[in-house]
Amino acid sequence: MRDALETWLRSAAARLHEEAAALTALDQAIGDGDHGINMDRGFTAIVAMLDGRPPADGGTSEAAATADVVRAAGKTLISTVGGASGPLYGTAFLRAAAAVAADQPSAAAALVAAMEAAATGIGALGKSTTGEKTMLDAIVPAAVAARAALDAGADTASVARAAAEAAAAGSEATIPMLATKGRASYLGERSIGHRDPGSASAALLLRTLAEVAGARPA
Ligand code: ADP
Ligand code: MG
Repeated sequence: MRDALETWLRSAAARLHEEAAALTALDQAIGDGDHGINMDRGFTAIVAMLDGRPPADGGTSEAAATADVVRAAGKTLISTVGGASGPLYGTAFLRAAAAVAADQPSAAAALVAAMEAAATGIGALGKSTTGEKTMLDAIVPAAVAARAALDAGADTASVARAAAEAAAAGSEATIPMLATKGRASYLGERSIGHRDPGSASAALLLRTLAEVAGARPA
């Protein structure tokens, strides 16, 4: 589980670096044009953190070792990303770490619990919910779809794929929405007709997760 997690974080960093200009362009339309830069900076710092970490020592359980990495990633985002997305994603990772550390019956169950905890953590910190044109419009449907897939007996790869598909659709659905949270809300009606940048980065993270989960066993 820890190996798959690290592969995901490194792949996500590479994808965010490639997509930084596109994410920033989305943020130029309805924000301050730094979302790609913020995500790239945060995930570059996560890769540096991973590079500097000792290998998991044999005495730690797989769940605890995985949760430690998720927690370290969250702390890294909070300390390196200045924008709203740093604390929001950072808190998502910290909450996800607690869910992973709790005894979960399977890797797929841990993934679903992590997504649900992440969504709850973002909503609590951001005082936000779905329909407000934020990252939650990708993450909440992803967590709901992941839970449904798990309940239907799906394995980790299928759970991740269900989440990625729901996140992509959820991000697309932010285009006609009126922003009522974050910087985009300052634009009022002019926020309509643009994709929310945070929903796009969330969909990218989950697409990368589905690719990693599909390519190798968790
Ligand atoms: P900033 O808005 O400080 O420039 P970023 O550009 O990095 O930070 O991130 C903007 C993204 O953060 C938005 O596209 C949105 O998805 C997300 N966001 C902003 N405020 C909230 C909130 N209160 N709840 C959930 N997500 C939010
Ligand atoms: Mg911004």
